[in-house]
Parts: sequence; C-alpha cells; structure tokens
Amino acid sequence: TSYGFRQVADGEKQGLVNDVFHKVAKHYDVMNDVMSAGMHRVWKDAMVAALHPRKDSGYRTLDVAGGTGDIAFRIVEASDRKAHTTVLDINGSMLGVGAERAEKRKLSDNLTFVEANAESLPFEPNSFDAYTIAFGIRNVPRIDVALKEAYRVLKRGGRLLVLEFSEVDMPLLERVYEEWSFKAIPRFGKMITGESEPYQYLVESIRKFPNQENFAAMIRTAGFSRVTYTNYTSGIAALHSGWKL
Ligand code: SAM
Repeated sequence: TSYGFRQVADGEKQGLVNDVFHKVAKHYDVMNDVMSAGMHRVWKDAMVAALHPRKDSGYRTLDVAGGTGDIAFRIVEASDRKAHTTVLDINGSMLGVGAERAEKRKLSDNLTFVEANAESLPFEPNSFDAYTIAFGIRNVPRIDVALKEAYRVLKRGGRLLVLEFSEVDMPLLERVYEEWSFKAIPRFGKMITGESEPYQYLVESIRKFPNQENFAAMIRTAGFSRVTYTNYTSGIAALHSGWKL
C-alpha cells in the first residue's frame, strides 16, 4: 500500500488482531481506562456530541468494531433511547461482553449485535444514517475496503465518524506519550491480564496508522465529501468526519 503501514499479510494480520481481542475481552474495559488514563471516555463523549444523534425511532446507526458497546450505548442514550444502533464486531468475545453490559443497562431493545467483518458488511446499500468506528479502523487489514463499505451502507446524507489514535502535534507531550505507550502500557497489561504481547501489538498498531492528513485523504478516496478532522488532546486521538452526499 502507498500508506506504508501494512507489514504483515492481510490474512495474517486479522488473525493476530483476533487473538489479541479474544485474550483481552474480559479485561478490555478496565484496560481502556488504564491505558488512556480515563481519557477515552471524554473522547467518546465528544464523538457522540459531534454526531448529535437524532431523537427519533427511525434513526439507524452502525457502530463498527463496536466491541463492548461504548459508542453504541452513548448514541442510544443521547437519542433519549429512540435510536437503534447495530454493534458490529469480528470478535464474538468482545460482543459477548457488550451484550451483557447492554442487558444490565436495559438498552438491549435499541441494539443489535452482529458478528462480521468491517471489510464485508452484511447489509444492503443505503441502510444507515450514520456509521461510527472508534479505535477500530487501525485494526482492520484493508482500511480502504472498510471505508468503501462504510460509504456503501450509508444513506445519502449519512455521516461517517472515525475516532482513532493519531499524530501528536506537541513535541513535549509526544515524548511523554511515547514513554507511556511503549513502556507503561505493556507493563500494566501484564500486571492486569498476565500478558504483555497483546498490548505491545496495540501500541505498535497506533504508531503505524496514517496521520490526520493522510487518513483524511483515504476517506476522500472512498467517496466521502466535506472531510474534516478535530484533534483531541493535542492529537493523541483525532475524530475524522465525512458525508455521503
Ligand atoms: N469501539 C470499541 C471501543 O472504542 O471501546 C472497541 C475498540 S477495540 C480497540 C477494537 C475492536 O475492533 C475489537 O473489538 C476488534 O475485535 C475489532 N475488529 C478488529 N478487526 C475487525 C474487523 N476486520 N471487522 C470488525 N471489527 C474488527
């Protein structure tokens, strides 16, 4: 690929990713708080605020790589429990945790859980008002294919929102962040889950992901209009937005 972040073969990469998330599923939510020092909550809230879900029962969104449900729950709540969200993930272990959490919060009526691949969505064209993906797209082997699929399943006028780790634009923060991610995160991972490799993978996949401008270009290539991005916490994360017009 011209973006230079693909090193292992696609099939092999997906296998590695699946192993990682089968292993971390049980500890995923705790580790998210530890790894991001709780910041993922703020970023996710900001993402859903940017989406501004419609408060009507016809509003349909798709949360890809939805894992344990964080984005989907927020969308349903923000719509006053009117919207319907489909949580799609390639990993049954992550979805299992998500479905359990949904039961506890009594949100199951507004959610559907689907085990499938972002590169090949099991939906008709023009099905959704919004497509969201948070901290998921960097795990997908063929990002260009996933973005084309996003475009296909969105309705005209539909919105794409991608939240992902990105390029830090403050040199001092960048150094602290590198120390944190390459040393502390795998160590915490080992302390909490007994394994450090899955967390090493996660950190490396962040480094290999294209920066804000390059990723925006990929979104445009997939057909989206009015593509913009917003940095969160000096670019540790970024929210990309595009429209199917
Ligand atoms: N969106 C959730 C969040 O923000 O907490 C979960 C993010 S988690 C870091 C990444 C998720 O991507 C995992 O649940 C993993 O199973 C999923 N994933 C990886 N490759 C995928 C693919 N090709 N299609 C769909 N989901 C995938």
